[in-house]
Amino acid sequence: MPYTAAPNRYTQMQYRRCGNSGLKLPAISLGLWHNFGHLDQLENCSNILKLAFDNGITHFDLANNYGPPPGSAEENFGRLLKRDFEGYRDEMIISSKAGYTMWDGPYGDWGSKKYLVSSLDQSLKRMGLEYVDIFYHHRPDPETPLSETMAALDLIVRQGKALYVGISNYQAEEAAEAMKILKQLGTPCVIHQPKYSMYERWIEGGLLDLLGNEGVGCIPFSPLAQGMLTDKYLKGIPSDSRAAKSHGALQQEQLTPDRVRQLNELNVLAESRGQKLAQMALSWILRDDRVTSVLVGASKPEQLSDSLKCLNNLTFSTEELQKIDQILAS
Ligand code: NDP
Repeated sequence: MPYTAAPNRYTQMQYRRCGNSGLKLPAISLGLWHNFGHLDQLENCSNILKLAFDNGITHFDLANNYGPPPGSAEENFGRLLKRDFEGYRDEMIISSKAGYTMWDGPYGDWGSKKYLVSSLDQSLKRMGLEYVDIFYHHRPDPETPLSETMAALDLIVRQGKALYVGISNYQAEEAAEAMKILKQLGTPCVIHQPKYSMYERWIEGGLLDLLGNEGVGCIPFSPLAQGMLTDKYLKGIPSDSRAAKSHGALQQEQLTPDRVRQLNELNVLAESRGQKLAQMALSWILRDDRVTSVLVGASKPEQLSDSLKCLNNLTFSTEELQKIDQILAS
């Protein structure tokens, strides 16, 4: 039976303006880094996407290399867009990126104009799209002049292959420089995608201030520290978890006894707030209004339903924030 999106899909979600731009993003966006490749079950991917869209998640984040194998998340997403979501393209914000290794030779990696333009052409073909809404440079390139990489983003917008551009994994200083160049070119940087979670707080040391001051949006990735900040690892490593998969990016060694103890303490605090640990970890990120959206992953629809409930409690008392810092420092 063809899919029809839930009629009330826009009533539950909050939409936040992305910096000073005209673009609004849902407070929760869905990332397709894991769980959407050829190793995964297409019907499960379809169910996660439908659940997301039915709950007002309009933003889907991809990259050329998502899979595994690289490219397969875009292929599967393209297949499902065509099969399940025909007619809904204008209600979606779809992003892709280039910057990590994608193909052999000197033109399939980093930040040259040659790589970015040809990679986006390939991404569009895989997804069956005429344009993406946001195109990112995925990581800084120490060798290519920043002016060339930013000129490539500007060109891509002028070619009509992307509506907006962003940068990812740039430290504050290089982000400031990239944003300045883009502004001069007339294609402002609308968004930065950094890693941020209770366990990864570097953006509090300058980047968030920069983005807030410059009116650039922020969409943190891996907010659950790849699943650690949930109740899944409190009592061991489940066999279907990312940490147990050979192709998962979460290493079992990261789950040290100290970390598991912290997670159990955070879990108790989450319960006292009427939340699950995953929900508290997401609310904690959304507590800052310079954060436009939080980019979650999910291997099952139920996880996403769970994560969405974070929106019911986004405020923290000073004592709760202090308690979180104490636990993390212990
Ligand atoms: P998360 O930190 O949200 O981790 C997602 C994993 O957490 C899921 O696969 C699942 O693990 C587990 N999980 C999610 N929700 C729940 C829940 N409610 N209860 C229990 N477990 C849960 O994010 P990701 O690391 O997946 O990153 C999110 C997105 O960010 C990516 O898809 C991608 O779009 C983007 N990203 C960008 C990068 C960049 O360089 N720009 C780098 C990395 C990610 P399990 O699979 O074990 O079930």
